Amino acid sequence: LDRNLETLARHLDRFKTSGVLNLIGGETRPAISADTFETRSPVDDSLICTVAKGGADDIDAAAQAAKAAFPAWRDIGGTERKKILNRIADLIVERAEEIALCECWDTGQALRFMSKAALRGAENFRFFADRAPAARDGQTLPSATLLNVTTRVPIGPVGVITPWNTPFMLSTWKIAPALAAGCTVVHKPAEFSPLTARILAEIAHEAGLPPGVWNLVNGMGEDAGKALTEHPAIKAIAFVGESKTGSMIMAQGAPTLKRVHFELGGKNPVVVFEDADLDRALDAAIFMIYSLNGERCTSSSRLLVQESIAEQFEAKLVERVNKIKVGHPLDPSTEVGPLIHKVHFDKVTSYFDIAHQDGANVAAGGTRVGDTGWFVRPTLFTNAKNDMRIAQEEIFGPVLTSIRFSTEEEALQIANGVEYGLTAYVWTNDLTRAMRFTDRLEAGMIWVNSENVRHLPTPFGGVKASGIGRDGGDWSFEFYMEQKHIGFAT
Ligand code: NAD
Repeated sequence: LDRNLETLARHLDRFKTSGVLNLIGGETRPAISADTFETRSPVDDSLICTVAKGGADDIDAAAQAAKAAFPAWRDIGGTERKKILNRIADLIVERAEEIALCECWDTGQALRFMSKAALRGAENFRFFADRAPAARDGQTLPSATLLNVTTRVPIGPVGVITPWNTPFMLSTWKIAPALAAGCTVVHKPAEFSPLTARILAEIAHEAGLPPGVWNLVNGMGEDAGKALTEHPAIKAIAFVGESKTGSMIMAQGAPTLKRVHFELGGKNPVVVFEDADLDRALDAAIFMIYSLNGERCTSSSRLLVQESIAEQFEAKLVERVNKIKVGHPLDPSTEVGPLIHKVHFDKVTSYFDIAHQDGANVAAGGTRVGDTGWFVRPTLFTNAKNDMRIAQEEIFGPVLTSIRFSTEEEALQIANGVEYGLTAYVWTNDLTRAMRFTDRLEAGMIWVNSENVRHLPTPFGGVKASGIGRDGGDWSFEFYMEQKHIGFAT
């Protein structure tokens, strides 16, 4: 821990001196208004540094820069784009430790999980870099009278708006395909975790990305974020965040007919049938809600467990949950760090009372840890019913709600009985049941006998209030590009 704190202090020095600044048209700048806001560590609420508080003027400058840079970036060719994006990946790997330490201090995520986040970010760049040369490939469809040519072109400058949970990885996941497709970008990162978005933009600049191709504007959602979604030069918005923010963005973007791509909230079930491998199911259920502080869109925040095995399964769960180590995020042995900020801490802890009021049991946790920083004990609610708020609402913390079911049909009703539909996890050794059940589950992504394992060519996204559109593989290019048809008379 001490060594990590020393290394972190060295990396933070420059932020403490100059603050986190915007990057517009290749220039590092404060906000035009000169306004700033503070970013504080969730560990002890101490000031990390100030951040440029961009507004509509800064967004306009960034959008104009992205518009001016677009034709040259579009026409530079996929092979050249591939080279630059791979260089970005190399530089991310070189600075992986700095990225991980800053991300943990800024967000409260535990280093044991975050140390891989930078490498996953690099992987996102390499994956889309390799696909850049073929992104515009089309097809010819000759008919008796026409030679039909179908091709793809990048849509133009795009806005990327990201949340505070795993902010580095999510930024790369959105920006890498946009750049590979030939779009230019204005990125508005979450106000609660600005450090690694700044490091990422610096890396892109250093890797030789032409000025204006990648612009960074920090600021508040209702101000800079809103202006980005309304700007006429911005052709599409890729957004990751809460479902209600997605609705607002859709309304804000309507007058300029924005194309939108939304990765939103979740209340994902992990369904454990009596015939499952219960030890593996237990490990996966624990990992999918208590890693990353439970601040993870794909977390399995609802356990649906079959009545016949429920008592035994929940008892083992309590034992394991009580042993989870809560602590400083830079301590390599920590499993759960502090929640991102006070407002979120207040929201998560409010569910401890809500659970009592609803008549559920608080079988583990349900308390704050210490009196500085935003630490909570990993929590398990049992004896829950699907209509309780703890079973319906996205708590977005290390909090699991266990609901019992008797039959497969009942499990399906409960699993689908929420407004969200991002992921689901099913544990059973009955293949026929798995096929029948997954076919009727309302979720964009389902894993059977597995936790969430990301494979970049597969589609990532949710249904219902969990999102619109898919990322991954060619799906990302479909969003960032336009199909174009040309018919040549023969
Ligand atoms: P949020 O919606 O509050 O904020 C996300 C971003 O939107 C921030 O950058 C914020 O400044 C900006 N924003 C806020 N209001 C805006 C407006 N009116 N116009 C434009 N931008 C605006 O979300 P959060 O609290 O930062 O993140 C947590 C949420 O993100 C959870 O619901 C989680 O499930 C979701 N999430 C989803 C995925 C996914 O892949 N589905 C991944 C990660 C997080």
